[in-house]
Amino acid sequence: MKHLLPLLATALALTTHAQTPFTGFAPATQAKQQAYEQAFKAATSAERFKAHLQAMCQVPHLAGTPENEKVRDYLVQTMKAAGWQVDVYPHDILLPKGPGDIAVELVEPVRQPLNIREYIVPDDKYSSHPGLTPGWNAWSGSGDVTAGVVYANFGRKEDFEKLAELGVSVRGKIVLARYGGNFRGYKAKFAQAAGAAGLLIYTDPDDTGYRKGIPFPEGPQHNESTIQRGSLLTVPFTGDPLTPFEPALPLDGKTKIKRADPATVDFHQIPVTPIPYGSAQKILERMTGAGVPPGWQGGLPFAYRLDGGPALKVRLMVKQEKVMTRVHQVVGTLPGAEFPDEWVILGSHYDAWGFGAMDPNSGTAMLLSLTESLGKLAQGGQRPRRTLKVAHWDAEEAGVIGSTEYVEQFRDELSRKAVAYFNADAAVTGKTFVGQASPSLKTLALEATKAVPYPDSGKTVYEHWLSSRKPGTDEPALGNLGGGSDHIAFYMHVGVPSLNVGTTGPTPYHSVYDDLYYYEKFANPTYALGPMVEQVFGTMATRLANADLLPYDVTRYATDLTTHLKAVEERIRRYKPDFSVKTLLAQVETLKGTAAAYEAAARQHLATGAPDRARTAALNEALRGLEKAFLDEKGMAFGAWYRSLYAAPDPNSGYADWMLPAFQYEASLKSTTNLSAIEIRYAGAIQNLTDRIAALTRQLGGAAPVGGARK
Ligand SMILES: [Zn+2]
Repeated sequence: MKHLLPLLATALALTTHAQTPFTGFAPATQAKQQAYEQAFKAATSAERFKAHLQAMCQVPHLAGTPENEKVRDYLVQTMKAAGWQVDVYPHDILLPKGPGDIAVELVEPVRQPLNIREYIVPDDKYSSHPGLTPGWNAWSGSGDVTAGVVYANFGRKEDFEKLAELGVSVRGKIVLARYGGNFRGYKAKFAQAAGAAGLLIYTDPDDTGYRKGIPFPEGPQHNESTIQRGSLLTVPFTGDPLTPFEPALPLDGKTKIKRADPATVDFHQIPVTPIPYGSAQKILERMTGAGVPPGWQGGLPFAYRLDGGPALKVRLMVKQEKVMTRVHQVVGTLPGAEFPDEWVILGSHYDAWGFGAMDPNSGTAMLLSLTESLGKLAQGGQRPRRTLKVAHWDAEEAGVIGSTEYVEQFRDELSRKAVAYFNADAAVTGKTFVGQASPSLKTLALEATKAVPYPDSGKTVYEHWLSSRKPGTDEPALGNLGGGSDHIAFYMHVGVPSLNVGTTGPTPYHSVYDDLYYYEKFANPTYALGPMVEQVFGTMATRLANADLLPYDVTRYATDLTTHLKAVEERIRRYKPDFSVKTLLAQVETLKGTAAAYEAAARQHLATGAPDRARTAALNEALRGLEKAFLDEKGMAFGAWYRSLYAAPDPNSGYADWMLPAFQYEASLKSTTNLSAIEIRYAGAIQNLTDRIAALTRQLGGAAPVGGARK
């Protein structure tokens, strides 16, 4: 009898969750959606999630390799078997042809090759796979240099400025910088700009390693051989470096795309490669120069120094070739029963640095399971009203390339039809639930997590997530979207509202230990987190797909804009004390009132029943247009490809999210020249958004309410 108790508790919990109301539905449609969600959740399964992850992660599968094409074929077969229509879009992109040749060695005072590969771990059968690569950075320059060494902390702009201020020249030297603080590509850019001959990037144990806990394989932290691979690409747009704004259509296809000559692209020229802390230690402990400034000391057990001194020489050799490579985007479609031209898009990349158990394929396996669960319901006659698309992107690791080429290929169609993009890169990698979203999707994510139980806890995902809330707030920490993955082109180039949620924890990020052994030991031993994340994605996606009025949080724009404007004001006042966003804030107050009026009108309208089909389509078309208020054809001063005035990746660090990027860029230059012009652009965007919302409210109120539900 004992085993019945948890079952009963689950049933009760589900009933309670089902009663939590959610936005965008008339009462009858809401009841129907609740029933749909119960059936969907019952269809999810940890076993299927596990089977998919295991099928995809037996061998390393870098973009452009036959092994990754086998994963592609598995994606196609699985989604077809689940009843989805599947399309494969090929693109020919420029890509490094694997690691090439790499050597790192001490030359003086002793000759000693330094380790650039992860150790084989006897209990981890994957760690001895012959297809694994040494540590390497995609888009390194080629060269063979022997030189003295300078330690440059994180290799940020300010770190190189500090070195110059302290009179330490990096000219002709090999720079040793630790991971963290910025995107690794900027370490290369700043090192090269300062005249360095080469760059070694290492993971310091202060970041992840024995200073944080027990190292792998006994614990989840980096050991002395764990290496973070990664792209160094820093062109001022996202995607294939030869085809900004254009899709990299196949070279042998009918449509010819103009490609840049690779010689004209601003690639890094100096050799760059990552090393583990075991190898960095052998260099750092032999350095003899002056001690480091505050904040520069890392976690190795000796005092760090700035300069290696005359007796220390290191050799760094990288020979890396760039070649045209065919990659494939796999897109599954479940056509909407009522509104096939409205698309809810979910995606993750499938290429990996190694086995990719966590990054990315925990997300891939979750999406495949989701296509099966929703496919089963569709075959039973329960097809969502709008179209669902599940995409598997190629060549993300080399610079978010596959998804960007797809977006550039279907830019106009996506602009009209896309309701939202949900990113699932590495979505199931630990016990902690996290998320970032554009303002309009925040409520959707928060509401959906209230309807999904967190395994073995008696809590919902929302209640579990709530432990992350910041002081003075009453909701989980739901951040803002920056760079780093496949939502970039959707959100920042085309203006499709986007989000990124999932679970996280300690990770062997971009190392060969990101395998099923690690996954089962540390990340998700029972695989139960797979269906949990699947339920969150499925709930969010089908609420968007089945709603009467798209459940965008329209008032959240005003709330978040206020926060971001105040942050910008504070930043600019540091160098221009009289700068004020008062006028823009006054506009945001109007926006807030307009949004509140819309939401009241929408609630009232839905309470009387669902609008008819034509009105639903018209209202939702207008709702899809809201995010476009932030699109600026001119683009940002740091890169015209970035068209969103609302969000962009920080062009000086790569990973950080820049909210209101036109202001942020001006502030990063400590410039006042363009401030009034920028203010005018934001005033225009806020006005545009306000007008669009006001028009929607008129559209809602302009017709007599339709009595009762139509369906
Ligand atoms: Zn990834």
